[in-house]
Amino acid sequence: MLNSGSNIVKVVVPRRVWETYDYSVPARLSRPLIGARVSVPLGHGRAVGVVVGYVKQSEFDLRDIERVLDDQPLVSEEVVELGMWLSDYYHHPLGSVFETILPTAAIRGQPAHIEPEKQWSLVEQSNVLIRANAKRQHHAWQKLLERRVIRESNLKELGITRTVLDALERKGIVEMSNVATSQIITPSPISPTAEQKRAIDSIKANLETFQAFLLDGVTGSGKTEVYLQVIDEVIRQGKQALVLVPEIALTPQMTNRFHERFSRMAVMHSMISNAKRFETWCQAASGDMPIIVGTRSAVFTPFKDLGVIVVDEEHDASYKQSESLRYSARDIAVMRASKLGIPCVLGSATPSMESVMNARTHRYQYLQLSHRPGAAQLPSFHVQDMRHTRVKGGICEPLLRTIGEHLNRDGQVLILINRRGHSTYYICTDCGWTANCTDCDVRLTWHEVPVRLLQCHSCGRRYQPVTQCPDCGKKSIATLGVGTQQVEETLAESFPDVPRHRIDRDSVRTNRQLTAMFNRLQHAKDGLLIGTQMLAKGHHFPNVTMVAVIAADNGFLSTDFRGPERTAQLIVQVAGRAGRAEKRGEVWIQSYDPDNPDLMSLVRDGYEGFTETELRLRREANFPPFGQMAVIRAEGPDERVAEEFCAEVLNALRQCDVRVLGPAAAPITRVARQYRFQGVVMAPQRRQLHDALKTVERMRPKSRKTRWSIDVDPSEMA
Ligand code: ADP
Ligand code: ZN
Ligand code: ZN
Repeated sequence: MLNSGSNIVKVVVPRRVWETYDYSVPARLSRPLIGARVSVPLGHGRAVGVVVGYVKQSEFDLRDIERVLDDQPLVSEEVVELGMWLSDYYHHPLGSVFETILPTAAIRGQPAHIEPEKQWSLVEQSNVLIRANAKRQHHAWQKLLERRVIRESNLKELGITRTVLDALERKGIVEMSNVATSQIITPSPISPTAEQKRAIDSIKANLETFQAFLLDGVTGSGKTEVYLQVIDEVIRQGKQALVLVPEIALTPQMTNRFHERFSRMAVMHSMISNAKRFETWCQAASGDMPIIVGTRSAVFTPFKDLGVIVVDEEHDASYKQSESLRYSARDIAVMRASKLGIPCVLGSATPSMESVMNARTHRYQYLQLSHRPGAAQLPSFHVQDMRHTRVKGGICEPLLRTIGEHLNRDGQVLILINRRGHSTYYICTDCGWTANCTDCDVRLTWHEVPVRLLQCHSCGRRYQPVTQCPDCGKKSIATLGVGTQQVEETLAESFPDVPRHRIDRDSVRTNRQLTAMFNRLQHAKDGLLIGTQMLAKGHHFPNVTMVAVIAADNGFLSTDFRGPERTAQLIVQVAGRAGRAEKRGEVWIQSYDPDNPDLMSLVRDGYEGFTETELRLRREANFPPFGQMAVIRAEGPDERVAEEFCAEVLNALRQCDVRVLGPAAAPITRVARQYRFQGVVMAPQRRQLHDALKTVERMRPKSRKTRWSIDVDPSEMA
């Protein structure tokens, strides 16, 4: 039977499927709009899908949609098209793409209505009758006296509950109302520097067309101020703005800067509840929310009238998702801006090689902020040759002396060591046994605090320490290799009276703890800050006069071609913490390979110099941004099966016009009992790479236990 008429819809269901499904719309329902959700039968169950098109006729006997969930499109046509494009570009099943794009609450079919936000204020001239022992009511009342108005979205941070406010409302002390949705813009109190003005004017002159900008400026040079002034103009024109920030940077410090200027904005990140995320999503889609500041996945938010996209710290690795749909939010931001015909501003003190190349070839307009307004000079660099130098607990003697000098002059010293734990080896000095994880090919890291134990940093498994070697039985267990805890220990011995703060994933587990820690450190005027890269991101420590990088070699000599880039970025970011006030800061880098060309050019000519050297090396190797690359990964419990499947995919790719390397064991071959293999696919042009990947994207391993993935534009090779 030929099913015809215009009442057939194409639906994407958020499952691991490559195709859309056709359904008919029964006469009792009105035809859903594109972008609306529908409830459809699927197999023996049902699913919530999104209508992405209409079909004239179908040769199949179609099933009916059961319900239309949205009478207005929930997903804008632009985002529907974005989904199709993503499936194509990342060679990922269309259904899974929508699973990533849609908020969980939307997939669960929750209604998309927008409750206006509530606020509470004190009733004037009311008699305040709160019982003395009603502590929480007193607390709320105090806060209301301080702030006059409290919004629903601030309740949590203020430690006030709805129940308490309801009680106060019943007593006639407070009244509840809807937050006015109009935007109040507080004009900038700052007059921009000449460079800022040039940047702001260039972007503002481009609000009607697509143009990507690379805003290159050191930390504190005033990039955020540029974003704020551009957004100010966009909002005044009645349009919306999307601001993407790295995972770790979304702190109250950062959002407060936006709040001070714009009364109405929303944040979106992984800690926001499903319901709240969906609500914000709907508000953006309906045009009711003018500004969204969010992490990676906020890039999928539909907008009614988007006017600008900002990507802060565009080089940050957290913009790339490392599982399922392996997308780059930075690249999608540029893509969306180009489709929408709006500007996209990429800001960084240490731009990615990709963006640097795009600026050089004039695809992106290059804007530079070279000065910090009214602030210090950049720090001086010193590379400490570690060969033939006495080292104690990871730190060589000249460095210890210099740290001492800075501490004596009331400076704060920041120590970067990119390994947590105490020691990276746990060995028998007699027979050479090393402690390894039973589930991974990984050496265990020795931790002294809070508990003495061994831990696998791949799968997290913990092990009790041993007193004698399990192989030879001798009591000759020792530790080697340095982590944050050992550096702290060494410094405690040398400077017993100096306050120390260690910041790593062991001492700070959640973003909330991180924020609390940074707030405390803001007021710590002296002492030692010891930590991993967590220390490097977007936080200001005005008293730091010296930065020491303990082990830079790991990164510069990494097997991952992006290792040097990441390491240089990290060093420049931490160096940006030194000498913020009047005094010039000092940066020390310990290295066993001081002649490394990347390191040498970084120290001699700064990040720009590093860029020169690194781009030359990449060009010689045909690595991105000079060629296109994808990584194929396969893993499973059976080593041979995983390797064979990886080889099968790579051999199929070898039939195409691309260069293929592999299969090879992944740098860590076994993680959590899964054996991992990978191969690299390279091509000079995008088209060749994608044509090749298209031929393999739907291949299926024979065993369901083998999993595999295509990673386009990989950000790491591990
Ligand atoms: P970035 O985003 O590049 O780190 P910010 O925009 O945060 O830089 O600016 C750093 C500090 O300098 C902020 O406190 C900001 O208020 C201040 N600032 C920015 N631009 C100016 C200016 N033109 N004049 C004075 N202070 C400024
Ligand atoms: Zn032994
Ligand atoms: Zn493990």
